[in-house]
Amino acid sequence: MPKVNFSDVLRAVRSRRSAGSDVDQNKAPRSTGSRVNIYWLANSPAIRELVGEYGNQATFAFGLIATETSSFIITAFKGVAVAVREEINSSISLVAQQVGSNFTTIDAGSIESGLHSEMSIVKCAVTNLGIQKNNLRYRLQIACVGKKVCLDCAGWLNQHGIGHCSVLPSDNPEIGGVIEFAAGSTSKMGGGLWANPLTGAIYSGGKDVTGYSKTSADGSYRSLFQ
Ligand SMILES: [Zn+2]
Repeated sequence: MPKVNFSDVLRAVRSRRSAGSDVDQNKAPRSTGSRVNIYWLANSPAIRELVGEYGNQATFAFGLIATETSSFIITAFKGVAVAVREEINSSISLVAQQVGSNFTTIDAGSIESGLHSEMSIVKCAVTNLGIQKNNLRYRLQIACVGKKVCLDCAGWLNQHGIGHCSVLPSDNPEIGGVIEFAAGSTSKMGGGLWANPLTGAIYSGGKDVTGYSKTSADGSYRSLFQ
């Protein structure tokens, strides 16, 4: 629904964050067997070893989605040097090969302002791979490496049935990162911007949302403030 008043914006934010705070919804498909899922990939030693290996630069997200004909791993980086990005992409490709089926690893590319890595994976799946929004539900799965999935991303993913987890630094360098399912707090990044991956609407202000703007498909621009 188009947002006409700031109360509409606040209602959307409340509902998203409430979904993000729901412990039962903050989960990802997991199994201890060889079935490929995001937990299986995130928990592989090659991914857990990446946590902390490049300092703050090793904060990125990757997603997994299989269509009827192909399977993809989508990586997304913000503020990561090209060389590190390439190394991480090749590590993930190696893990994908171990999976044994035909996974193609693709990089979501440059990410526009306000779009978090997890959300750029969603956008890439829809825009670049042509997967219908409704087909993301229970198919796309996302892992955030290096920090928790923020409350807004977790909420949006929960509202759309997209499983997620985080690989966080542990105290034990021998095991590398550890998997967690809890959502983090709202992001402070870039003035607390959060962009909807499909509508492009941008919420600003972080925890206390103070602004909303959206350019519609017909080119019209709307901006609302608290
Ligand atoms: Zn986020």
